[in-house]
Amino acid sequence: MTDTHLERQARLRRRLEGAGVDVAVVPPSGDLVYLAGLHVHLSERLALLVLPVAGEPVMVLPAFEASRVPEGLRTLPWHEDEDPLPRLLEALPAGARAIAFGERVAASELLGVATARPEAELSALERVTGGVRAVKDERELAALRAAAEATDRAFHAFVRESLEGASERELAARLASALRAEGLDDTFTTVASGPNAAFPHHLPGERVVRRGDGVLLDFGGRKDGYLSDVSRTLSVGEPSVRLREVHAAVASAQAAALAALRPGVRLGDVDAVARGSLASAGFAEAFTRRLGHGLGLEIHEPPYLRGGNDQLAEPGHVVTVEPGVYLLGELGVRIEDDVVVTDAGCESLTRAPRELQVVS
Ligand code: ZN
Ligand code: ZN
Repeated sequence: MTDTHLERQARLRRRLEGAGVDVAVVPPSGDLVYLAGLHVHLSERLALLVLPVAGEPVMVLPAFEASRVPEGLRTLPWHEDEDPLPRLLEALPAGARAIAFGERVAASELLGVATARPEAELSALERVTGGVRAVKDERELAALRAAAEATDRAFHAFVRESLEGASERELAARLASALRAEGLDDTFTTVASGPNAAFPHHLPGERVVRRGDGVLLDFGGRKDGYLSDVSRTLSVGEPSVRLREVHAAVASAQAAALAALRPGVRLGDVDAVARGSLASAGFAEAFTRRLGHGLGLEIHEPPYLRGGNDQLAEPGHVVTVEPGVYLLGELGVRIEDDVVVTDAGCESLTRAPRELQVVS
């Protein structure tokens, strides 16, 4: 493990201690990469980092994976012909009462601990910490910025070519290759044209893009471990009055949310600002999703911009701000930027133009 990992562990320990937690149990996830530099697939095989507030961290994992554990991290390997649960119980400090579990810990593992330690108080690590990785350091911000800039360049390259006459599937492949050409890995591309854009998670299909269509793009990829996640809605040829109207309403909602996002504001209130803006334009019912999500080593991670979230924005939070209007059978518009909370407000890492772009 590097000094960075040890510093992150120390920071997490302090937060756990402040919350009265004795030990954290971390499954394969961005948290494991963040805290220990260890990439392990999440699967049915038990693999957990046990990080006590006082004492040495221990990685419990399949014996055949043990060679991948970075130097300096103690392991408790288990073999395929044995029950791994006793290894996990051995890794938990004997006196630990309050145990916080990462959100992808398997129910069988959680139940195993709850049964073996009936006196233990179990909690959710994300609840206790507000997200282990929610506040990004300078190095992480540089990687997120680089990912956002590469994604902007890929977008500009993509819109230079005509969309008309190509299928969604072809356009998704074209956008993915533009992202890869900019050095992004793990790329993802959604292309939803015309009425298909009303489905926020539409899978690109055989529909051919025609003049007059709105086309919703949602795309991004990974650079130096960190992700981008951007949406833009284009008009192929002159936009209809309706597309123009909806796009303007979504753009206003996003601008209002960006103006509201600053340190100390409740994240739920930022969602409410965007919701209020769309409601005043008559689209309350059509904004069916949360406003945004944290972004970093994983595409969706804390903190979340959703109604009812009392967590406060902090400098170094990186979130998407992605209001949308989804009108079934008609059209859909989403504008999504990657945004960092600064000392004074927020700054968008995404620079691609937000206004309705007319393309051929
Ligand atoms: Zn997205
Ligand atoms: Zn997103």
